[in-house]
Amino acid sequence: MSKILIVEDETKIARFVELELKHEGYEVQTAFDGRSGLSMCESWQPDLLILDLMLPELSGIEVCRRLRQQSDIPIIMLTAKDDVSDKVMGLDMGADDYMTKPFAIEELLARIRVALKKHRGDISQTSGVLSAGLLKLEPASYSTSFSGESIALTKKEFDLLHYLWQHEHTAISRDELLENVWGYDFAGDTNIVDVYIRYLRQKIDDRYAIKTIHTIRAVGYMFRYEH
Ligand code: CA
Repeated sequence: MSKILIVEDETKIARFVELELKHEGYEVQTAFDGRSGLSMCESWQPDLLILDLMLPELSGIEVCRRLRQQSDIPIIMLTAKDDVSDKVMGLDMGADDYMTKPFAIEELLARIRVALKKHRGDISQTSGVLSAGLLKLEPASYSTSFSGESIALTKKEFDLLHYLWQHEHTAISRDELLENVWGYDFAGDTNIVDVYIRYLRQKIDDRYAIKTIHTIRAVGYMFRYEH
């Protein structure tokens, strides 16, 4: 579960965003000024930061500048409508993205997913290893383990888990899975996806009493680690 820190002094906006993010399954903390935002970043180590530009104590720009000296955490800046120069400065200071207030919550959620995914992609390019809780997947050696105990997966099971996990927190359709895990040979026969999902659940979720593969009604499946 990804941890998101909101730094926003407008309590109504902060509370609203916090509730929506919690509803999406994120772990959320809120800070109401720049200085405490910065110190919570250091103590709580969030996976993503939603940072308002105009803040008491320390401005969003300054928080961003200081954070970038020590961390590559994804930062989404919130700006008031006409702060064009501030937006530019925010991006210059290393923010990954910005949203203009007022914004649609769905758009913020989408941008959060993109930023988290991109960040994970950057990490996995260097190591490739995925881990959540005690579950671990190592592409280089095609191995999967739980708490150090090796899980015997077939190549297709492994590829399916790997694909879902790489797109963590994103609902993936059966068609997309077929296309990317099985290739064109199996086009059209989405039943096979359900069969392999069942194998994975037996070998991982059932065996270790965790929940990793969620059924998304009318869409397909999503990887999200829960225990
Ligand atoms: Ca503000």
